[in-house]
Amino acid sequence: NSPLFAVYGASGYGREVMPLAREQLRRQGVAPERLMFVDDAAVGSTVNGQRVLSYADFVAEPASARHVVLAIANSPVREHLAARCAADGVRAWTVVAGNVVVMDAVEIGDGAVLSPFVTITSNIRIGRHFHANLYSYVAHDCVIGDFVTFAPGVKCNGNIIIEDHAYIGTGAVIKQGKPGQPLVIGRGAVVGMGAVVTKSVPAGATVVGNPARVMEKAV
Ligand code: UDP
Repeated sequence: NSPLFAVYGASGYGREVMPLAREQLRRQGVAPERLMFVDDAAVGSTVNGQRVLSYADFVAEPASARHVVLAIANSPVREHLAARCAADGVRAWTVVAGNVVVMDAVEIGDGAVLSPFVTITSNIRIGRHFHANLYSYVAHDCVIGDFVTFAPGVKCNGNIIIEDHAYIGTGAVIKQGKPGQPLVIGRGAVVGMGAVVTKSVPAGATVVGNPARVMEKAV
């Protein structure tokens, strides 16, 4: 009985994470049949040559241990599924592309996905189930919470705090903070694609543009 591995989510992001997962297991000498998709909708089918199981079937398969990477961009969904997996003894699995650069004194929580060309420099702390999509970087002295999502090409400069569940859109640039005076992206905030963020963003706010400004909600 050997361990089983799954990419949870067989849609857009899951199909991008699967090849990374496959390659990571190949490097570790794990048999390819031990890897599958788990999805609550596409059950019973095959996606890009890989089996799709329901969560219940995945948990019922004989295995010495179960490892799952949550490949779903929506962070509240990730949090919900993470709790379900933890309750069933399914472990949060971290998937890292072969060409990712991680420098000194970096701590990353379980369940992360680091896509190709991601760079995490030095003295950085990152929480659970972080997604760093293609070409994103995190620079020195940043602290990132749980369930944070970076779309492709996010430039997160030094001394920035990003709280839980924040979403940073494609190509956003976040200005560096100062030691002891970080720039803070608040809990659940959304940074629009291409935004140039020059000051802290309140929790729950959506900011867009250059310089980024809070977008008022339409009533
Ligand atoms: N999904 C699931 N269980 C859930 C929520 C979502 O299996 O509780 C699956 C859903 O069926 C879909 C995928 O996760 O296949 C999410 O895909 P979507 O295109 O919404 O997001 P993305 O792939 O862009 O993150």
